[in-house]
Amino acid sequence: MGQSHMRHALPPGVDGAAGNYPLTQIWVHGRNTGTYPVSGFTVVNSQKRSGGNLMSTVDPRTKEKLWNAPVAGEADLDDAVLAAREAFKTWKVVPVQERQACLSRLADELDARREEIHGILSKETGKSGLLTNIEIDDTLKYIRFNASHSLPDEVEYEDETLKIISTHPPIGVVGAICPWNFPLVLAVAKIAAALVMGNCIIVKPSPFTPYATLKFAELAISIFPPGVFQALNGDNDVGRLMTLHPGIDKITFTGSTATGRKVAESATKTLKRVTLELGGNDASIICPDVDVQSVAQKVATGCLFHSGQMCVATKRVYVHKDIFEEFRDALVKAVNATEIDKSGHQPSLFGPIQNQMQYDVVKGLIADSKSNGHTFLSGGDSEEQPGLFIRPCVIDRPPDDSKIIKMEQFGPIIPLMEWTSEDEVISRVNDTESGLGSCVWARNTTTAERIARKLEVGSVWINSFEIPSPYGYFSGWKQSGIGGEWGRQGLLSYSQTQTLQIYK
Ligand code: NAD
Repeated sequence: MGQSHMRHALPPGVDGAAGNYPLTQIWVHGRNTGTYPVSGFTVVNSQKRSGGNLMSTVDPRTKEKLWNAPVAGEADLDDAVLAAREAFKTWKVVPVQERQACLSRLADELDARREEIHGILSKETGKSGLLTNIEIDDTLKYIRFNASHSLPDEVEYEDETLKIISTHPPIGVVGAICPWNFPLVLAVAKIAAALVMGNCIIVKPSPFTPYATLKFAELAISIFPPGVFQALNGDNDVGRLMTLHPGIDKITFTGSTATGRKVAESATKTLKRVTLELGGNDASIICPDVDVQSVAQKVATGCLFHSGQMCVATKRVYVHKDIFEEFRDALVKAVNATEIDKSGHQPSLFGPIQNQMQYDVVKGLIADSKSNGHTFLSGGDSEEQPGLFIRPCVIDRPPDDSKIIKMEQFGPIIPLMEWTSEDEVISRVNDTESGLGSCVWARNTTTAERIARKLEVGSVWINSFEIPSPYGYFSGWKQSGIGGEWGRQGLLSYSQTQTLQIYK
């Protein structure tokens, strides 16, 4: 078993000090669920492995240090790739029904160990019990979707002499590099799709939120053959090494656009397949015929879900001029009524910013708006310590070229804009390098659909805030990504297409 002696540059807020793997007590809904070893082991070839260096993160509610976990090094990565390549030889020919059955067992195992995962996920992300439950429920949905789907062969053409069939064999070894905002569901959606298609997968969680994903990998040890599903705990450098590794055939990456560019650049060296799910700057367009009070409440929910730390959270709100004032007042009321979950036990969608780095980004955007004289209708005051809490802000009509309109805030700041004509609002919403998602709100769904089809984004929700589904293909246009995942079409991104041209 190889162990790396490399020194790793950990992000700010992630402690690299050495220590032991402690036993810890996890609290769920205010109840102590018992003492057990916390997750944090890298899983290589069905073995829990401890690396040379250790890291830990902090609880964003309190800034208290969480558990030590070993950091994988280059040698761990080499071992994992070797194991995955070996496992791929047999996993790819396992009948799809058996692969689906393994995923069903994985879902059942997660459900059975739900409280354990819940405690870890809530602690590391700062999510309330409610939000954590939503993430675990969604994780189960993505596993079960893949446990009941596959890509059968398709006959593309047939006559008396020739039959052309498309088949979908797996790609090989997939490396999944994941972000911190929805660490479990975003990793598991990749894992389940890759595995059902017959690939082997090595997952690297974010160094800000490694624990639940690593624990999940431990649950899978008894279900999958060695080398099929492995997890490496690591920093950005482990991610970089994965993108360069000649034994990895595909990288599926979810994270920021800045890192996505680096991933794409490294992956070209070995001509790896890549899927990039990157940042967004999503808009909600509110048409004049809506029920103002109810829609304002829902738009606030979409903006502030997990305190705005969602790739498809609404980041710009465009309200028709005829209802602007009434909508503005209703939105501010809804935002001011937002319950901030300080303890983790309140049924709130709003908690702390997950890490110091993101906290500083959000505070910087608030400071920029203040220094440019933007009008704050809510929030923007000093924050409560010691946790990473930022009260939700509403900013009244900042200029189109202001930072808060141009940049992805990924936090609880709602810039409220006014629009007059359909063409004008579509052009302003499209005037961005991002193209991830959008929402259109209108009682007349023909109007909403007409607007939606003109938006340069991968997903549009009509009369709902952003609720991704395992059935819907999810992709970013422009600089929000390359390729896509989820849904039946998403399975194509975990397979090759081989054409059989059979002369009879
Ligand atoms: P990030 O880009 O900082 O990190 C993502 C992952 O990349 C982490 O695991 C990190 O360790 C790794 N990494 C960092 N440098 C690397 C490198 N050079 N090579 C390979 N891997 C590297 O992103 P983040 O801050 O964790 O996540 C927030 C961002 O993710 C936001 O921009 C958000 O919009 C985006 N996001 C997008 C989606 C989507 O589906 N489109 C979903 C969630 C989050």
